[in-house]
Amino acid sequence: MHPFSYTRASDTRSALAAGRRGGRYVAGGTTLVDLMRETVERPRTLVDIGDLPLRGITGTERGGLRIGALVRMAEAAAHPLVRTAYPVVSQALELSASPQLRNMATIGGNIMQRTRCAYFRDVTAACNKRTPGSGCAARNGFNRTHAILGTSGHCVATHPSDVAVAFTALEATVSLLGPDGGERGVRLADFLLRPGSTPDREQALRPGELITAVEIPAHPRPLGSGYLKVRDRQSYEFALTSAAVALHVRGGVIREARVAAGGVGTVPWRLPAVERHLVGERPSNALWTEAAGRAAEGARPLEHNRFKTDLLKRTVERQLRVVGGTR
Ligand code: SF4
Repeated sequence: MHPFSYTRASDTRSALAAGRRGGRYVAGGTTLVDLMRETVERPRTLVDIGDLPLRGITGTERGGLRIGALVRMAEAAAHPLVRTAYPVVSQALELSASPQLRNMATIGGNIMQRTRCAYFRDVTAACNKRTPGSGCAARNGFNRTHAILGTSGHCVATHPSDVAVAFTALEATVSLLGPDGGERGVRLADFLLRPGSTPDREQALRPGELITAVEIPAHPRPLGSGYLKVRDRQSYEFALTSAAVALHVRGGVIREARVAAGGVGTVPWRLPAVERHLVGERPSNALWTEAAGRAAEGARPLEHNRFKTDLLKRTVERQLRVVGGTR
């Protein structure tokens, strides 16, 4: 581990001042400290934001839900407002990591976590995300767990978060506070960046900006939702594929559909072709199969992850059946 200085911010103003000077924010530390041990990350200053007042889960005036950036994953998963209104969020959190990690890791940190690409974490390997311009060892290496959607010639790594997939399906917004005190909201779908030619730039964050919350907008009721994660072992493993599904059915017709996938994209991957096929239709097993058949549109599999194309379709179909019912 490289030498670094550590400061614990007592209030938001001092945190932002330290962020303006180039300090890296840390809360649960479950990702960043690991990467520092492996010398993948080498921040000169850590700014511990654990004491900032960013821990609430509250309903918004507009009928949505605001989850503070420092809410622990386990707290969010168990919160009654989350469990009842957005089971897809609760389930995605409960299927993430281990109980110990969920007790430490925060919602803001979860969104900011970095890829699990093994080459990224091996400082002897070529990796454009870690060392821009060095190449991508995964492209022609062992790429079984890598992305099939949103890839570029520079990077094919997946985004590892489960709850970000649920947030993407629900069209959540990330609330940000700048060093000058300015606030803004950015849709998560715009906040997390595809690799393009700059895979080292992963979020649309401005220098010194701090995530304060994730906000889920109001959705029509009733909204049935749920999350399915497919992985190599039943616990403490990242997704090979996953599906977040939210459906609003009224009068026997699907009025709204939100579907996103994880484990397959360089960012959490919304599936608009699937959604379009569902809206205006009556739920049926045939509809689930037809809609899920569109889940992998645009996929570009690599040598070792061709299986993900079919697995994604089956994952989406199964979760449509779970949320929409078997008929
Ligand atoms: Fe690095 Fe991305 Fe290639 Fe992995 S896939 S080695 S993170 S550039």
